[in-house]
Amino acid sequence: MTLPPPYDPATVFAPEDDPAAARARVFIAPQRYVQGEGVLDNVGRYLRLLNVRHVGILMSARGQSSEGPRVRQSLASENIEGTCCDFNGECSLDEIEAHRDALADRVDCLIAVGGGKCVDAGKSIAFRLGIPVVIVPTLASNDAPCSALSVLYEPSGIYAGVEFYPQSPALVVVDTALVAAAPERFLVAGMGDAMATWYEARACLTNPNGVNGVGTRPTIASYAMGEACAHTLFEEGVRASAAVRGQMVDESLEKIVEANTLLSGLGFESGGIALAHGIAKSCTALSHVREHYLHGEMVAIGTLVQLALESRLEEVQKVARFFVSVGLPANLAQLSLDVADASDMNTLIEGTMDWPHTLNMPFVVDAGMIRDALVEFDKIGTSVIGEFGDDTYRRLHLDSP
Ligand SMILES: [Zn+2]
Repeated sequence: MTLPPPYDPATVFAPEDDPAAARARVFIAPQRYVQGEGVLDNVGRYLRLLNVRHVGILMSARGQSSEGPRVRQSLASENIEGTCCDFNGECSLDEIEAHRDALADRVDCLIAVGGGKCVDAGKSIAFRLGIPVVIVPTLASNDAPCSALSVLYEPSGIYAGVEFYPQSPALVVVDTALVAAAPERFLVAGMGDAMATWYEARACLTNPNGVNGVGTRPTIASYAMGEACAHTLFEEGVRASAAVRGQMVDESLEKIVEANTLLSGLGFESGGIALAHGIAKSCTALSHVREHYLHGEMVAIGTLVQLALESRLEEVQKVARFFVSVGLPANLAQLSLDVADASDMNTLIEGTMDWPHTLNMPFVVDAGMIRDALVEFDKIGTSVIGEFGDDTYRRLHLDSP
């Protein structure tokens, strides 16, 4: 089979020979977003929107035995055939191409059921097969479900780049009962990823040359979503964590799942990202961080660094307090990093300088500023942890996911 050509959104929305095009405002979104307790059982019915007959179901072997029967039952009730394929854990080109080959010419839709890497792999496979993708996240640990892009990794887990797609997911179906049954640390990591949304969108908006994921200016809608996302986290984050500890779905959990998935997902893709994600990406180059921490936990530290670099020290305090309250890392030590380790600090600084979205910051950033921000945020974060304690962080990190 022939591969679709790689898709570069800039060639459509912001080509180099048409500088005016990048001044346009572009908003990117999935066709439908459904969230609620038990909606997994309705997946087959929602597929009526797509008129498909034979779908691939990408999920981990564990997922195939836990949620798999419900998905297959739901498809069967609509006379849709399902073909299972086991996701082996890494969103790498090796894994993506193996599934593409296995499913080629057999399915007219792909459902990806799982965490961030599984849903990102699903988008990539569906793009290669030229079919719509349906995303069923089982965690609210990241903002991958709604976006038209995948973060790719080497088979070893090192960040390898981003792939963009001309289509957003056709459907995103979030069953909050699945989220409530997952470990608390996943929901909390999702809050770390989500908290960056507003601060990165604000940087992008403030910089007259700041651009979003497709190379154009953000809309009011996207930054309003980022702002609503941050407010929701501050107001409901602690209560939603308690709901997950009790494995129950309540209004707080519904709000936080929407913040982590919809508001953050649409907010980051259409509103733009900035330095916070550059720090997070650079963390994946350090094996002792990559192997023990989740994306959202690295983004949490990135957000504090970005705010310190913007000299928004009151916000560093406020956000660090929130992180401590839900158990996200609030200083370098809580991410197994040390400001005195010159080699690790240089990895973070150089990686962030190379990160293209660092250019979305509203002023020119240099290595010295990132170094100062690392020192500054670490001091504030450490004092906040000293004041409010690290009980929640310790509890979440006792048994790592
Ligand atoms: Zn992220």
